[in-house]
Amino acid sequence: MKDLTCRVLVVGGGPGGYVCAIRAGQLGLDTVLVERAELGGTCLNVGCIPSKALIHTAEQFHAATDTASETGLSIGKATVDMGRNVAWRRSIVDRLNRGVAGLLKKAKVRVITGEVRFLDGKTVEVTDGSSSYRINADDVVIATGSEPVSLPDVPFGGPVLSSTEALSLTDVPDRLVVVGGGYIGLELGTAFAKLGAKVTVVEAGDRLLPQYDPALTKPVADRLKSLSVTVHTGTTVVSVSTTGGAVTLQLRTPDGTERTLEAEKALVTIGRRPNAGSAGLSDLGLDMAGPAIAIDDRCRTSMRGVYAIGDVTGEPMLAHRAMAQGAMVADLLAGKKRKWDVRAIPAICFTDPEIVQVGQTAEEAKRQGIEVKVSEFPLAANGRAMTRERTDGFVRVVTEKSTGVLLGIQAVGTEISELSAAFSIALEMGARAEDIAATIHAHPTQGEGFQEAALGVMGHALHI
Ligand code: FAD
Ligand code: NAD
Repeated sequence: MKDLTCRVLVVGGGPGGYVCAIRAGQLGLDTVLVERAELGGTCLNVGCIPSKALIHTAEQFHAATDTASETGLSIGKATVDMGRNVAWRRSIVDRLNRGVAGLLKKAKVRVITGEVRFLDGKTVEVTDGSSSYRINADDVVIATGSEPVSLPDVPFGGPVLSSTEALSLTDVPDRLVVVGGGYIGLELGTAFAKLGAKVTVVEAGDRLLPQYDPALTKPVADRLKSLSVTVHTGTTVVSVSTTGGAVTLQLRTPDGTERTLEAEKALVTIGRRPNAGSAGLSDLGLDMAGPAIAIDDRCRTSMRGVYAIGDVTGEPMLAHRAMAQGAMVADLLAGKKRKWDVRAIPAICFTDPEIVQVGQTAEEAKRQGIEVKVSEFPLAANGRAMTRERTDGFVRVVTEKSTGVLLGIQAVGTEISELSAAFSIALEMGARAEDIAATIHAHPTQGEGFQEAALGVMGHALHI
């Protein structure tokens, strides 16, 4: 057993952990990062990056095979070699893995591969095959992420897939049941539908993507319908049986009746659970917020010198939140004055069309007693959307009525995710509707919808 000491120990090399370690290294802190698997965590290896690459492939394939296009474009029979596609996705992941390793090296962070077990708040044991270490640190950052939740009594395996297995399928299943119509279920479900699978979504709630308002999710539901995806809302899974590589699900529908669904694969995406109880973490006796580690506005846990960032601290489980927390904690450890004081954590669902939500909704603002003014600009009146054959969606701004200060922005549309930076900057800089309205937005772009929605708040939209 080798004994190591360091100023900062980061446990977990996902977007939260590796960003924290890079920043701590840049600030001259002696930093050790321990990761049991690949650098980049869920996001880089089995989450954000490979899923967006699959979505891209599915969009290309669907565009090539779409006979409904009025553009006059016609392409011969398109095929996709999923084995090659998985290898292509893996090559992107590998490139990014190497990039993260290089950045950590540049920042002089010591990286150890192995499984961490906490002995106390400041000491961990790491085992990696034949070698083992005991590491003692002044400050510890827990960035152990999250893992997929399975259905009760139905472990992942065989034809019952989590997102990780779904992302490594080398064949498109003929029939795919997606249990859980949230972020992952709809992003991946849509992709497999575009690649030719007959997809059925089973959602326990009374509508898809319940975290967004119904107007935002309606274009997504309409598109699923046009892709022949069947959606059962208000429906729960009673039992799952697997035989000969296929899967049979017994469902309970909203009227209490039961029905059977058969498929080659079932993708279970009913949420993710913080990795807060394993690795000796539960023995530390940290205060919890449900299944997550409780933190304050500086990501401090209830134990002095022990911080937690990213998915292990609960929702919103987003890579960019984890990274921002990681960078903040490193600054704090270097003695800088920082606290979590953000007006907007953008949330994007990479469905078709995409949904973006930044800041407050009108309902959230009203609940705080704020009088709001809301304006929506439909993409049906946007030239760029027309040239891209997709006019479904809108941009909506929510402002404080008395001042015109932007409180929140929501949008749904094809590739509307690219506007999230403009939305976030506007909110963080405390822009008013008149600031957005007076900014020249390039033509023809979907961004003009943002300007028009701001003009709408002021009562004089130009193009509607
Ligand atoms: P993780 O990325 O989970 O990293 C934690 C790391 O800790 C892991 O590498 C793990 O191996 C390591 N670890 C855990 N325990 C130990 C231990 N005992 N010893 C050593 N190492 C340990 N978010 C977005 O913002 N945008 C998206 O488009 C998006 N798409 C997603 C798609 C999918 C299919 C999935 C599953 C997730 C997606 N997410 C997305 C969520 C995003 O991946 C997570 O929010 C993000 O990875 C959280 O970062 P993290 O650093 O907190 O944890
Ligand atoms: P989710 O919370 O987004 O969706 C889970 C869905 O499953 C919900 O709609 C819920 O009502 C439903 N559900 C729960 N139990 C069920 C049951 N027994 N039967 C049927 N439906 C059930 O969770 P997810 O899609 O697994 O994603 C996990 C996390 O990963 C999310 O919280 C998100 O933050 C993150 N993520 C983000 C992105 C992104 O930013 N684009 C993409 C993927 C994942």
